[in-house]
Amino acid sequence: MQLKQFFKPIVCKACFKTFIPLSLENVFENREKCLCKHCYEQMNPNITIKRIKGIEHMFLYEYKSYFRELLYRFKGCYDLPLKDIFLDYYLNILKMKYYGYSVVPIPSNESENIERGFNHVTEVFKLLNLPILEVLEKNKPYKQADRNGAERKEIEKVLVLKEPIKANSKILIVDDVYTTGNTIRAAVCLVLKYSKRIKVLLLAKNI
Ligand SMILES: [Zn+2]
Repeated sequence: MQLKQFFKPIVCKACFKTFIPLSLENVFENREKCLCKHCYEQMNPNITIKRIKGIEHMFLYEYKSYFRELLYRFKGCYDLPLKDIFLDYYLNILKMKYYGYSVVPIPSNESENIERGFNHVTEVFKLLNLPILEVLEKNKPYKQADRNGAERKEIEKVLVLKEPIKANSKILIVDDVYTTGNTIRAAVCLVLKYSKRIKVLLLAKNI
């Protein structure tokens, strides 16, 4: 990439305004950012690392107004180009942090994927350039947002591992929004049978 390209105006994929990415980070990354700084700040970025039952969980944003709106545009309105915005400001650091890991996405309902034409979680985390293991599936339609706390525990029965994972491999379980943690907990339980080297990465926390 030529130096002059770093000064080329870019159209933000979220707000469609042009911006000039002039940060040193951009030069070192050798790639174009696609989210303007204003949109990024409006998304309530808040990197948080928590250990939950001994497993490291990292959250990138708060699940609030603008983040919610953008996730809805991406996931609910099928605006596929938005897949690039969520990790845009974190990509390099995440690639370093999770070097050697394989990504296990939490599945959406198959019927939604078919209608949408893509699994939104997989699309976002593909950008890490890590191997993707689509080994989890929901064995019947299940929509957590519709359910109360007790019923959410049903996820433990609904989420299944459709094929084994290579023993002791480094696994990064990924999802979009963390609310009760029931889905992640169920996924961790399934993966633990094969490997104890598990980390969890979530776009946003809603807790
Ligand atoms: Zn913007």
